[in-house]
Amino acid sequence: MTNDQYTFANPVTRYPKLDPKPQHQSGPGSSEEMSPKPDIGADSYRGTGRLDGRKALVTGADSGIGAAVAIAFAREGADVAISYLPDEEEDAQEIVALIEAAGRKAIALPGDLVDEEYCSSLVADAVAGLGGLDILVNNAGKQQAVEKFEELKPEQFDETFKTNVYAMFWISQAALPHLEPGSTIINTTSVQAYSPSPILVDYASTKATINAFTKSLAGQLAPRGIRVNAVAPGPIWTPLQVAGGQPTDALPGFGDQTPLGRPGQPAELAPAYVFLASGESSYVIGETLNVNGGMPTP
Ligand code: NAD
Ligand code: MG
Repeated sequence: MTNDQYTFANPVTRYPKLDPKPQHQSGPGSSEEMSPKPDIGADSYRGTGRLDGRKALVTGADSGIGAAVAIAFAREGADVAISYLPDEEEDAQEIVALIEAAGRKAIALPGDLVDEEYCSSLVADAVAGLGGLDILVNNAGKQQAVEKFEELKPEQFDETFKTNVYAMFWISQAALPHLEPGSTIINTTSVQAYSPSPILVDYASTKATINAFTKSLAGQLAPRGIRVNAVAPGPIWTPLQVAGGQPTDALPGFGDQTPLGRPGQPAELAPAYVFLASGESSYVIGETLNVNGGMPTP
């Protein structure tokens, strides 16, 4: 049998150090063009029925962490609606095929999260297509490194906040009337919330906001039986990083600063989302689950 997430392994060597060559993509970036390709768990994630019959919406699910989450959810028995930018159709179709190969329904809903109308129609279309909704993963994100504060454009500051924070607000609010007790919302934050890089002023600020938003909303929705939590990844090998998330010359050695000495792969994030989405975490509320190779967090 091939290795899966339950295979006992040394975490230091489970994945190699990457030492990727400098590479750059414009736009949102595509997995296909990355070297090496990220591991989204397509060949390794093994489901055990932990989300049987659930209905999930995952944003930014064409690639990286969101793609790994969508695949894992489907293999755990959930139908999955995926959101992504229209430019990412090729990556998205690969994920649709993997969800369907797991025997689950896949609903592809491309659009731009900066647009409030898309956010509300996204929820309506997901609910219509899935026949309801009980797991929402706000995972899409924009990260563009800017070396000098003088060069951080107001347009970028605005778009980063719209994508990472406003969309989470719009989508969560639109989803709420559909969420029955037992439903969960999971937001993707970042180690950047606590250890902000000097070149990610706008991005790191949004990630700190997501942590506070998560804890505040969690307190409000818990009495209604809806759990809100977050996952905070460390350095993970995804298109976001090669499409301007890091300066091109910073890519060799990416992730080597972690105690594990290597970057994480999207496949290593999926189990955290599955845990927070399933009933196993019924008493876990307002938590930020750090999946970061050992970087200290508050
Ligand atoms: P990724 O590029 O694979 O995923 C990000 C996705 O966000 C894109 O695929 C795209 O579909 C979506 N997106 C961006 N702007 C959008 C817009 N305007 N409208 C619609 N969709 C849009 O990269 P990833 O690293 O898997 O990112 C997923 C999440 O993980 C993000 O929130 C990111 O901030 C977070 N994160 C990543 C890392 C890392 O090191 N890669 C670390 C911490 C947190
Ligand atoms: Mg993508």
